[in-house]
Amino acid sequence: MRLVMKFGGTSVGNADAVRQVAAILKKSHDQGHQVVTVVSAMRGVTDQLIDAARAAATGETEPPRAARQALWERHHAVAAELLQNPYQFVLGDIDAHLANFSNLTSAIAVLGELTPRALDFISSLGERFSALILAALLREIGLSSVAVMADRLIVTDRHFGSANPLLDLTAERAQAGLLPMLEAGALPVVTGFLGATLDGIVTTLGRGGSDYTGAILGAALNADEVWIWTDVDGVLTADPRIVPEACSLRQISYLEAAELSYFGARVLHPKTVRPAVDRGIPIRILNTFNPDHAGTLIVKEPQANGHAVKAVTAIRGLALIAVEGRGMMGVPGVAARVFETVASLGVSVLMISQGSSEQSICFVVEEEASQAVVEALEGGFRHELTIGAIDRIDRHAQVVIIAVVGWGMRGTPGISARLFGALGERSINVLSIAQGSSEANISLVVDHADAHEAIQAIHAAFELDRVANSREQIAD
Ligand code: ADP
Ligand code: ASP
Ligand code: MG
Repeated sequence: MRLVMKFGGTSVGNADAVRQVAAILKKSHDQGHQVVTVVSAMRGVTDQLIDAARAAATGETEPPRAARQALWERHHAVAAELLQNPYQFVLGDIDAHLANFSNLTSAIAVLGELTPRALDFISSLGERFSALILAALLREIGLSSVAVMADRLIVTDRHFGSANPLLDLTAERAQAGLLPMLEAGALPVVTGFLGATLDGIVTTLGRGGSDYTGAILGAALNADEVWIWTDVDGVLTADPRIVPEACSLRQISYLEAAELSYFGARVLHPKTVRPAVDRGIPIRILNTFNPDHAGTLIVKEPQANGHAVKAVTAIRGLALIAVEGRGMMGVPGVAARVFETVASLGVSVLMISQGSSEQSICFVVEEEASQAVVEALEGGFRHELTIGAIDRIDRHAQVVIIAVVGWGMRGTPGISARLFGALGERSINVLSIAQGSSEANISLVVDHADAHEAIQAIHAAFELDRVANSREQIAD
């Protein structure tokens, strides 16, 4: 099989983890698979780089200096533990990248300005470090491997911070760059998260974007499967930090995976399934630290598991805005004007709900942007507010969207009764409700203070702790 395997930040987070990754890759290689590896930065490194760049923009020089030192020490320690000769091919390159980091952060401190372009260049460094280390370790255990910087492969637009890949050009470059290596039995280790514009300016694909790199390369190389290796046994019925009894799901559909990741299940970057759907490439989510667990298989048509609801997720840090007034009924185009106003601020709306009486429109935006949205709406609807056609524009800060996801909810009666019954029993107030047009998702908004309890109540009400938790071996 031709496989793309992506390893996340914890999977390359220390020397033992990197050794474990190398063992997984060696096993697949020995089984005769062609494997392209994609790596994230070590856990925490991207945050460190971004924090240092932001501090530099305020004129501070100490945080970037300290970050350089800490990054050098951490990577040096891991490389020295894993490699006979860490300076050859690895630490020299890392030091050169860190020298660029220092020059750039000094320039940012002098200018007092951090452009999105400079931020992308800086935040892409962590993936370069881990790719260099892993490729060197693979060579040391007798495999043929090279670290490949993805600015040579992934061509994107100029949307710094969440760039979009240009898939045809990327496929051309990825095939030209990687297929000869695969055919020669080598194991390329590609940096996740980053790409470059056609003229070679470094971009990034958004936080958590190494998953997306894996899927983009899977599609570009016509891989048989994309395997995302992380630190849990696949996609779970809920975030295990909130629901400790959450179970691993054996199979889910592309649509369910997309809904779950969009609504906060951090295990998968929200755009990851797109390139895979187009080509029907299955995605597996596997645990680097429990590699014999079957994990989760994401396909077009999964086998049913007897549960209409498969998982419950949450997005935090939001605000609910309501435009209310009995007079709105007679005013044409209120909804259009509301959303035009929000769009003109460049703010995206995560959820909308409107009562059929047209007396209120509710929608959810990021908390950070919400005050500006309210002010813009008050400006835009000044006339309606003055004459009383709109009574008020209300903002409920600190809310959470909880999404209940499962394709089987379609046509299963009694789901809402069970859902709202469970919340009612615990006296949890639901502020707003929406059902996705796919019918694979019901989203509701609750106050931040109620979110944990609401997720636990929903998990229990749908008996998600009883989802069959397979421990089968992965098929060779
Ligand atoms: P990686 O660095 O491997 O990409 P992430 O931290 O991005 O890993 O994603 C894995 C984490 O996602 C898990 O450790 C878990 O805490 C969290 N998570 C949140 N919701 C879910 C879910 N429904 N299923 C699995 N993991 C989840
Ligand atoms: N290192 C990047 C991040 O922390 C990308 C990733 O880990 O997927 O966002
Ligand atoms: Mg991730």
